[in-house]
Amino acid sequence: MREFHCKDVGMPDCSFVAKGKDDDEVMRKATEHAKHDHHMQTIPPDLERKARGAIRESSGQSKR
Ligand SMILES: [Zn+2]
Repeated sequence: MREFHCKDVGMPDCSFVAKGKDDDEVMRKATEHAKHDHHMQTIPPDLERKARGAIRESSGQSKR
């Protein structure tokens, strides 16, 4: 599993974590979250790049 922590991209008060089987799934969830909870109509390319760079391998649980 891959995971993304919203606070890794400059949202220190946000505890949202997106998890998915790959980076694309994580990004899809993170994008939805940004739209709903951070009122972003679109994700700027630099933020998307930053977010992809912040995706990491999930520390817990087995991979399958
Ligand atoms: Zn957030």
